[in-house]
Amino acid sequence: MPICPKCESKRIKRSHTRTFKEKFLKNFNRRTFRCLDCGWRGIIKVKYTKEKEKLIIKRRKIFRYVTATIVTLVALFITKYLMG
Ligand SMILES: [Zn+2]
Repeated sequence: MPICPKCESKRIKRSHTRTFKEKFLKNFNRRTFRCLDCGWRGIIKVKYTKEKEKLIIKRRKIFRYVTATIVTLVALFITKYLMG
């Protein structure tokens, strides 16, 4: 778990995303936290767990496979269309 950048407390809690910026940053490993000791609230970069990392890699592979399939199909369609 991350620590508070202001008071270095470990009593830090995940905070709900409120703004678009916070929601957007969620996609980049950044999470909104709130410190229970000093009341600090802000965005901290967090590390992925091994399981989560594996899942992301898996998703990326699937995404690449799907993209490649679509590109191939489109290419085939264009070729067929051009050939008449
Ligand atoms: Zn604090």
